[in-house]
Amino acid sequence: MLKTKDILDEKNKILRTVSKEVEFPLTEKDKKTINDMIEYLTNSQIEELAEKYDLRPGMGMAAVQLGIPKRYFVVVHEYEEGKFDTYVLINPKIISNSEERIYVTDGEGCLSVNRETIGITPRYARVTLEAYDMDGNKIRVRGREELAIAFQHEYDHLNGILFTDKIDKKNPFKDEDKMRGI
Ligand code: ZN
Repeated sequence: MLKTKDILDEKNKILRTVSKEVEFPLTEKDKKTINDMIEYLTNSQIEELAEKYDLRPGMGMAAVQLGIPKRYFVVVHEYEEGKFDTYVLINPKIISNSEERIYVTDGEGCLSVNRETIGITPRYARVTLEAYDMDGNKIRVRGREELAIAFQHEYDHLNGILFTDKIDKKNPFKDEDKMRGI
């Protein structure tokens, strides 16, 4: 079972690598890693389990955050109280996005960023991605609002980018009026 301490901190340079494309069939190790990620993310969003196992809550995780620089990530989205949708995206590509941009009013979070941050990370309000599932089938997924943000945040991890990189250093609230806070 994954623990919060297994997740690399932003100071770790591995997080800055551009992850490599995954070849199919998946290795047993990658399958296990994906299942561990799903388990962690789901449990971490269920209060009593998060407490029991001392898990920091998160809805997304990229393999590189566990020190595995391969192009896949998992998002577990609580779409309704206590109900979760699980997305496993391997070799994903963002194929379209909305014009509209949004940001998390309270600031984005990341399991690898263990400090307070302020400022706006601009994101598209809606994105469509193409990727492969665990069996190597091509899939297409759409996300809007917080799910869209999660997809973009995790996708950035595959390219060595953290949400804090996208906050304007001089003016963290730059273009606030051009985007919608959620
Ligand atoms: Zn992150």
